[in-house]
Amino acid sequence: MAGTVYLDNAATTKMSKAALEASMPYLNEGYGNPSSVYSVGQDAKRAIENARNTVSESIGALPDEIYFTGGGTESDNWAILSAVELKKDKGKHIITSAIEHPAVLNTSKYLEKKGYEVTYLSVDQYGQISMDELRDSVRDDTVLITIMMANNEIGTILPISEIGGIARERGILFHTDAVQAVGHIPVDVKELNVDLLSFSGHKFGGMKGVGTLFAKKGLNLPPLLHGGGQERGGRSGTENVAGIVSLAAALNDMMPRLPLLKVTQIRDRLIKELLKIPKSRITGDPVNRLPGIASFIFEGIEGESMILLLDQCGICASSGSACSSGSLDPSHVLLAIGLPHEIAHGSLRLSVGENNTDEDADYVLEKLPGIIAKLRDMSPVWHE
Ligand code: PLP
Repeated sequence: MAGTVYLDNAATTKMSKAALEASMPYLNEGYGNPSSVYSVGQDAKRAIENARNTVSESIGALPDEIYFTGGGTESDNWAILSAVELKKDKGKHIITSAIEHPAVLNTSKYLEKKGYEVTYLSVDQYGQISMDELRDSVRDDTVLITIMMANNEIGTILPISEIGGIARERGILFHTDAVQAVGHIPVDVKELNVDLLSFSGHKFGGMKGVGTLFAKKGLNLPPLLHGGGQERGGRSGTENVAGIVSLAAALNDMMPRLPLLKVTQIRDRLIKELLKIPKSRITGDPVNRLPGIASFIFEGIEGESMILLLDQCGICASSGSACSSGSLDPSHVLLAIGLPHEIAHGSLRLSVGENNTDEDADYVLEKLPGIIAKLRDMSPVWHE
């Protein structure tokens, strides 16, 4: 097969046609600064406000509850740092989970250094938190609960509405990192009982480097960036007009069609067929999982080697055991769901997107079993 079979849509996506077409004018003649008073500037400003309306409608919010940011990481940082600032007189305790993205985990660790106490809720084998553990962890000085809506490595969808209900009962601010959820499953901020919700354009066909933070009406977010006062004083810096327009167009194109049946069918076929490989298992929640994520463990395999051999066949995938920043530790998510180190090394995530076809799945199913057999043959420790 010529070309690339891209099955890493949870890492990033190709820009959608809708996003590309909508944003192109703002990379061309519509390049004005939205703060300028002349018409090219005001056109750009209007494009941003239209995008705000579109995004707010897509997630059941009000336009004034939408702030555009520089991506998911920035939205997460801003949500967490502003929540603790708003509640600084109440206390210094935060609750999160052990499987959050580094954008949340490392912000929590930063706050620990600043004197905050953080409870990292454990998860079960499927990546689900326990509501009892959550209730027991709430203290009088708890100021924020931040739990992701869907996990990026294992695809587990968490019961955000229920968690939000507990937060609301106890008067605690609730943030969810919905970066892997928005654009993939229906998201309505009112049903979810959230105060703050983050997402990112490039995970559903928008441009990279643009995100959104939803902040419930009445929350007066202290700014993360200080400057010219863009985004109603919340997020200074000249707006990424084309990026914002692309995010809104991609979301608008996606939302009415969710969840994508074809994506789910390809995911299910990959899961069904690849589980026929001996000593393989699925990771994450088998039922409550993202439509596009097929994640596995193949025992006796080094995930990194599997990714490299897949790449030689033109298949892009990822492994939670990739040695990030030079460390050979498997991902914190795989360890948190209880996998021993040596087994967690054999992880593979295939994340399906709208552009994938049945032929892509055929090709992976043709190549992957042979790659696994080859790596196991080469392994000094593997015994069938
Ligand atoms: N949160 C989750 C769950 C993610 O998967 C990602 C990206 O991989 C991020 C946050 C960060 O988003 P961004 O790449 O837009 O900064």
